[in-house]
Amino acid sequence: MTRQAISRWETGETLPNVESLKQLSVLYDVSINTLLGSPRKLYCQCCGMPLEDASVSREPDGSFNEEYCKWCYTDGKFTYASLEDLMAYLVPAMANESWPEDQVRAYLESQLPKLKHWIE
Ligand SMILES: [Zn+2]
Repeated sequence: MTRQAISRWETGETLPNVESLKQLSVLYDVSINTLLGSPRKLYCQCCGMPLEDASVSREPDGSFNEEYCKWCYTDGKFTYASLEDLMAYLVPAMANESWPEDQVRAYLESQLPKLKHWIE
């Protein structure tokens, strides 16, 4: 990356390419989405939780994986082998007096299969 290239991005003359964005992301330790001014609201594609830079997962080399939260994807591996595994964790964790487990389960069963990680 050259100083001239960075100065052209700053003046809006050119936009950084994907490879440069990845390098900047690592350099400044912020996600690419944040670098771009957060144009997208990110959700974990495994459990559905909204993602902030602090909860975005990392690849083993330290770069961000903006598809998943750090609880669903850690050290290059997925935490939950199946939707059932994830439900077994989430249902009791999310249930409370006003939202009983069978309703939480029904809600998650309607929402989680739409997430990219569970499609196919
Ligand atoms: Zn997740």
